[in-house]
Amino acid sequence: MSNAAVLTEVGKPLEVRDDVEVAPPGPGEVRIRTGASGVCHSDLSVANGTVPLPTPIVLGHEGAGTVVEIGEGVTTVAPGDHVVLSFVPNCQECYFCKRGEGYNCEKAAMTAMGGMLDGTTRLTSQGSPLFEMAMCGTFGDETIVPEISMVKIPKDVPLKVAALIGCGVLTGVGAALNTATIKPGDTVAVIGCGGVGLNVIQGAKLAGATNIVAIDVFEHKLELAAQFGATHTVKADQENAASIVTGAADGRLADTVFEVIGLEPTMNQAIELTRKGGEVVLVGVPRMDVMLNLPAAFTFLYLGKTVKGCWYGSSNVNDDVPKLLDLYQEGKLLLDELISREIGLDGIDGAFEAMGTGQVARSVIVYDD
Ligand SMILES: [Zn+2]
Ligand SMILES: [Zn+2]
Repeated sequence: MSNAAVLTEVGKPLEVRDDVEVAPPGPGEVRIRTGASGVCHSDLSVANGTVPLPTPIVLGHEGAGTVVEIGEGVTTVAPGDHVVLSFVPNCQECYFCKRGEGYNCEKAAMTAMGGMLDGTTRLTSQGSPLFEMAMCGTFGDETIVPEISMVKIPKDVPLKVAALIGCGVLTGVGAALNTATIKPGDTVAVIGCGGVGLNVIQGAKLAGATNIVAIDVFEHKLELAAQFGATHTVKADQENAASIVTGAADGRLADTVFEVIGLEPTMNQAIELTRKGGEVVLVGVPRMDVMLNLPAAFTFLYLGKTVKGCWYGSSNVNDDVPKLLDLYQEGKLLLDELISREIGLDGIDGAFEAMGTGQVARSVIVYDD
């Protein structure tokens, strides 16, 4: 029997259960002993209905762990290996994967159904099947994950640090290094400095941006933003972001602006803070009913702005996970500093509450071995 925090119904607190049965891995699947899992805003988004997924479900999609058993045909990992889980599968065979767009892998369509790649589930509790968020289900101490949704990592990287790579770091650093085209000397603004926004900031620094303007309503997040490389901080409800950006950039607006919240007003603010010819990268997760209404002539034609979507930091996990771990080991990527709290499964609801008040970068569930 395994333990897992289960979302039984949208809007309810998670139920920590100790009776979860894990079926053996099917073909192309791997049984994982979860080492650690970040608590990401997207988990909360499933719990509160912003992102619709079927229930009952084991949330958690930002994790790392140890392979304990492999299903038929699995060749890239073996029992005992450490892996980072990828919430987007990367089959390396489809049209998108072959074009270097692993983040668009065709196999990802099945993650919306809550089961494995074949649509069925592997976990059971109290007589009902449990779905797994993004085929990861890292809010459980054991999980079944497709082989194509993991990347083997060296054993000297702590699993709690590796876990964060799986969502927040790939998304945030990837937004800056892969999705955007930041040039050395650029001015970048980042709206929203939570777990992902901080990674956008350190990604922008790695890309060589000279001015990095961090915008948030929470003082504590702005302090973290400065630690991660922000050169200017803007308290969003008190200060004028545009004047601080233009003050930093010789009177121009920003070359690149990242929106990392997912709200209409902040997406519009991101477009307004972008200079002519500049780039807006939308990273935040909006509700399904959020619409953008843009002046076409004065956004795209006369001002030549580019508005880019960003899914999973435009990452190819098999290349990007090792690259990010190298940067971490060279001291160029802050990962330990992202961990604000280490919690158990019973601490997830508290972690959700802490997100709303801007207290933490990341709460991380650390499982006992
Ligand atoms: Zn996430
Ligand atoms: Zn693919």
